[in-house]
Amino acid sequence: MQALIFDCDGVLADTERDGHRVAFNKAFTAKGLDLEWSVERYGELLKTAGGKERMRRHFDETGWPGPEAGRDTFIKDLHKLKTDLFMELIESGRLPLRSGVARVIDEAIAAGLKLAVCSTSSERAVQAAVNIMLGPERAAYLPIFAGDMVPAKKPDPAIYKLARDQLGLDPDRCVVIEDSNNGLRAAIGAGMHCIVTISSYTGGEDFTGAELVVPELGDGDAIAIRLADCQAVCAS
Ligand SMILES: [Mg+2]
Repeated sequence: MQALIFDCDGVLADTERDGHRVAFNKAFTAKGLDLEWSVERYGELLKTAGGKERMRRHFDETGWPGPEAGRDTFIKDLHKLKTDLFMELIESGRLPLRSGVARVIDEAIAAGLKLAVCSTSSERAVQAAVNIMLGPERAAYLPIFAGDMVPAKKPDPAIYKLARDQLGLDPDRCVVIEDSNNGLRAAIGAGMHCIVTISSYTGGEDFTGAELVVPELGDGDAIAIRLADCQAVCAS
């Protein structure tokens, strides 16, 4: 095994449940709306892609707070505020790491493996997540491939192929940790092995092709994946 590569959203942290959903709710409160998306409601809304579209769908279903004429501006303002609040949340360090992430990264650093984070989310958000949640010492070992560095988002394998080329990796000796079907397809499409850690909203997805599917990497008594398991995946 040569490299261990992490997706960001849903893998390093449960970003939809603990980050984006929380930021939407803070934005609603800041704008004086009597609205809070529960974990369950947000799960339904996630079937609609895009934050603005998600809010539109919610108000279409439950009623809009204002007249039709101002809706575009209303949604645009709300979404900008939400994006700022999401960045604040990451930069504050209040978004928790998923269990086992720091441990497995430390094992990989100790073993002298290459590491990377590959995400098609905004580079600024991924950078903040890595630097603040994992800390500068680990971040120094984790080159980030994110956002607009590639033209196509996952499930397109472009982001993993970019990491492969830039780090000089043999994909058959790389293990990727993903939480979604899109991410799994991107990793496999780049010829890499993939272990899935299911996140709050990906439990029902198809993980055919994953080497292992676990609820968490885990810590303490609940360790599900050690570096040795990743190495075994590569060797098989
Ligand atoms: Mg993900």
